[in-house]
Amino acid sequence: MRRGETDPVWKKRLAQEPRSAKAAQVQNLLNQYEESQWWDPEDISKSQTLLRSKLLAHAQRTISHYAETTGQVNPRDLASLRAGSWLDLPVLKRDIVNRLGEDLLSREIPKQHGGLDPIYTSGTTGKPVRVVRTSYALTYWSAFTTRDHIWHNRDIMGKLAAIRSSEKDFAIYPKGARHVAWGSKNGVFETGPCISLNVNTSIADMADWITRTAPEYLLSLPNIIKRLAPYCIEKGLTFPSLKEIAVHGEMCGDLMRQQSMEAWNTPVHDMYTSREIGYMALQCPVHDHYHVQSEGVYLEVLDDDDQPCGVGETGRVIVTTLRNYAMPLIRYQVGDYAEVGAPCDCGRGMPVLNRIMGREQDILVLPTGEQRWTLLGSPDVRHFMELAPINQYQFAHVAPDRMEVRLVTERELTPDEENNIAEWVQKKLGYPFAINFAYFKDMPLSKTGKFKDFVVEFS
Ligand SMILES: [Zn+2]
Repeated sequence: MRRGETDPVWKKRLAQEPRSAKAAQVQNLLNQYEESQWWDPEDISKSQTLLRSKLLAHAQRTISHYAETTGQVNPRDLASLRAGSWLDLPVLKRDIVNRLGEDLLSREIPKQHGGLDPIYTSGTTGKPVRVVRTSYALTYWSAFTTRDHIWHNRDIMGKLAAIRSSEKDFAIYPKGARHVAWGSKNGVFETGPCISLNVNTSIADMADWITRTAPEYLLSLPNIIKRLAPYCIEKGLTFPSLKEIAVHGEMCGDLMRQQSMEAWNTPVHDMYTSREIGYMALQCPVHDHYHVQSEGVYLEVLDDDDQPCGVGETGRVIVTTLRNYAMPLIRYQVGDYAEVGAPCDCGRGMPVLNRIMGREQDILVLPTGEQRWTLLGSPDVRHFMELAPINQYQFAHVAPDRMEVRLVTERELTPDEENNIAEWVQKKLGYPFAINFAYFKDMPLSKTGKFKDFVVEFS
């Protein structure tokens, strides 16, 4: 079965004369992806074993850290790599990447992989990580960006509006900023215009900007959509030109998908990316779950005993970047958790992730020692929002047995409303926490525009 096959308009685009040498490389990859997405899981796994073998051999030969820490595994023994010797390789944690810095750079970067491009990741904790990519690795990045457009059959001649983190004085309301194309103007294909608005804009002003500019596509963060949708429902703002919303950077729950349908009759598509790795998984063209981007990464989900999780199990995400020979990340612990999915009936053979569960610091540890996900993106949060006129909330775990409920509300709440909220929070989190309330005029976003529903503030 081949559900969600490439649209004829996109097929024509893929066959057309490339706009530049760089576009030719990306187009070439996209045409390969058109085939490789339908490979069966066995062939994908074989191809990935070969890529892992080559990368590990290169890393052992040209980077001292990998020579020292991975010598027990023979990269040329493909049979044993497949049988599990790969699991003997140490997991690479973020602080090791920080500490090693330039020492993780290969002494012999293949010349044909082109120039180098360093990138700094912001990170929610600790120092930023510096990762160096080759121009060859970036070609894969560009191809995945376009694959996302193909999978979700976007009309790239339409107008794209991005609400994103920007420099302090850039893209500010009411005008925002205007860009000539969706990506860079020398992108793979010709596109329509892109407009952007600084993420530090009030929800009311965002709604006004979208109404005035009437985009076909909106790119933003889940925390924005989660606040924008109820506001628009209340004000009756329907954004009639809007065809789709794409989100990234934070957990995307079913609640937000439902809210978007209710507010604007618009589907939401999520992508799983990180600045240091690039695209790890894209949402399936026909389902809400994700396909690992196997052409670029080898992604493992490991349990507490460092063994691969089975279908339906949740574990730590460990990623190997298969195409970056400048600073290969081998078994890098991204810091997120994900739930492994069953093979997909769309016919694509790439592994499935049902859900991305967020970061380690998003896990709630009860005073009993039990660990739980707070699941604040699930539809039952709606009941909570209906208990009082709540515009925004955050649950802060401030002591082992105490939760602070932080709220932005339209008016002062009554004692009854506070009691109902406290009861709901205790039930949702599965423990009779002592609860106190704190009220705010607004709750600021992080520098990169992110916002957490749940934070832990004691150690
Ligand atoms: Zn699928």
